[in-house]
Amino acid sequence: MITRHFGIPVTSPGAILRRERDLGTPLGQETAEVLQSGGLVPDKIIIELIEDWLRLHGGHGFVFDGFPRTLPQAESLMSMLTKLRTALDLAIWLEVSEETVRDRITGRLQCAECGFTTSSSSAQFANRPVCPYCDGRLERRNDDDLAVLQTRLQEFRTKTEPLGAFYEKLSMLHRIDGNRDRDVVFADISKLMEDKTAK
Ligand code: AMP
Repeated sequence: MITRHFGIPVTSPGAILRRERDLGTPLGQETAEVLQSGGLVPDKIIIELIEDWLRLHGGHGFVFDGFPRTLPQAESLMSMLTKLRTALDLAIWLEVSEETVRDRITGRLQCAECGFTTSSSSAQFANRPVCPYCDGRLERRNDDDLAVLQTRLQEFRTKTEPLGAFYEKLSMLHRIDGNRDRDVVFADISKLMEDKTAK
């Protein structure tokens, strides 16, 4: 939605790694097991991935989804941006309850080609699970499983939650209630981005 609305490229290490896995590349093979188990991929791999992506696509603004997820990743991002003489404008924290997370991953369908995400409860996709944007196949993720979710939540609590304080200290953090419908959440995110670009 952000790319379509603002024309800003969005990237997510999870999406890149799923694609690498589907293509059977060495990186995809090396990380597939960690992804499926719900653990976090080592920082060194993720940081290199983001550095490469920024070099190729980061010239005119960018949004990261699911990065950084650890303090070393957040610190590396700061040094990458200092080298590129680019400032970070916003850190957006989507707050969701465990119940919302459980509901969403139980019904989540994702496009294997472009990452478009929807829910199996959407009547539009129930009989024809095809992406409306690129005709790719809409499928379940193999880590969207309630047992794997426990590991993902544990990783979140121990390694990712401390980033809230990190970005709060830098006065960059904006918390948004992510339990609401996607259009309402998107409107809040858009407002933050518009306020930032108007300055
Ligand atoms: P996501 O698509 O953001 O839900 O991420 C799916 C999986 O990719 C995660 O459970 C991790 O195994 C891996 N992953 C994604 N982003 C990161 C990150 N920033 N650091 C470490 N592992 C990540």
